[in-house]
Amino acid sequence: MAQLAICGGSPVRTKPFTAWPIFSQDDEKALIDVLHSERWFMGDRKEAFEKAFAQYQEAEFGVAVSSGTTALQIALEAAGVGLGDEVIVPSYTFVATASAVALVGAVPVFVDIQPSTYNIDPDSVEAAITPRTRAIIAVHIAGRPADLDRLTALAKKHDIRLIEDAAQAHAAAWKGQRVGAIGDLGTFSFQASKNLNAGEGGFITTSNSELAQRAWSLHNCGRSPEGAWYEHPLIGGNYRLGEFQAGLLLSQLKSLDELAERRSRNGEALGNAIEGIEGIDTTEPDERITTHAYHLFVMRYSAAAFNGLSRDHFIEALNAEGIPCSAGYRPLYGEPAFTTRFAHYPLDSPYYGGRPDYGQVHCPVTERVCAEEAVWLTQNLLLGEESDITDIVTAIEKIQKHADALQ
Ligand SMILES: *Cc1c(COP(=O)(O)O)cnc(C)c1O
Repeated sequence: MAQLAICGGSPVRTKPFTAWPIFSQDDEKALIDVLHSERWFMGDRKEAFEKAFAQYQEAEFGVAVSSGTTALQIALEAAGVGLGDEVIVPSYTFVATASAVALVGAVPVFVDIQPSTYNIDPDSVEAAITPRTRAIIAVHIAGRPADLDRLTALAKKHDIRLIEDAAQAHAAAWKGQRVGAIGDLGTFSFQASKNLNAGEGGFITTSNSELAQRAWSLHNCGRSPEGAWYEHPLIGGNYRLGEFQAGLLLSQLKSLDELAERRSRNGEALGNAIEGIEGIDTTEPDERITTHAYHLFVMRYSAAAFNGLSRDHFIEALNAEGIPCSAGYRPLYGEPAFTTRFAHYPLDSPYYGGRPDYGQVHCPVTERVCAEEAVWLTQNLLLGEESDITDIVTAIEKIQKHADALQ
């Protein structure tokens, strides 16, 4: 115990954390039921799930689609975003938040995050608004709602749309209301790592009937809900969620409350426990966040309190102690997808008057967080017992105490 595991000592923990996904016999039955129904297409599960999950997120309407990425594309198109438009996105997020913008022919404009929340910085958003701006995408990063008060006010003031990327934020709530329909539209993912999971899948929430109808049409071959099967008022792809996934999601949804409560309880406990450790913080509490979904538990690491041990070495040492963790995202605007000149629609679109030069973009908070501060723990670490939290804290304290051995 005295010696760090990375130096050959015994690790704090050898037991694995709670495995993910979690499924029951009910989930098994839900899948078999779809199989036996012989209605693998246009059965009643997709619609039932649309009603149930929209209601869960306190949205009037919901459309179930193939992924979180396609949900973003459809939400953008439903909001009228297209060629030559600009959409403001945070530079600290999964690539889909920005690539979806490019995939509908618009230009992602990257802005910085707040150092205390890791969410999009409303001041940077305001500074980035131009006459071409059509929408803002606010990501509820790690399951922590972005500042929806300021962002909804900004969107209203400039007459642009606010889309909530809630791929990490099932069950999260802002001032008592679940996220997804506080902005004009919200999007969710049911990809395997997410807090509600069917392997793949996505969802669009809104309480605006016009946007809901457009989103529905865009995900279903441009059909209209009342129209004939071969009547197509819009050009739309086929992005429908399948019946098997809908069946599984209906069943998984039943345990979301319980799992969300567990994540909240353990997330808060871990937050409180690390308060006493110098050089380890989490994001700052905010009373307006009534439910944090804890898709990730974000630790903010400071090497100074660990005898100068770099964040990356800290992560190696913590992994060796039996606590799986990682560094997370890189600044998105630095990815070759955006920086490399390529003759690819739409970033070279003549509608935009030349492609944006992402080599000029610098977001100092994002760069520092990615390079030396962020340490991620995934949501399944928060699904176990109190002793799991104790092990995480013990391992961090052990590394701090023996940090000089790693110099
Ligand atoms: C996972 C994720 C997405 C994309 O969802 P997929 O279902 O994987 O396409 C989009 N945005 C964020 C913030 C995500 O975490």
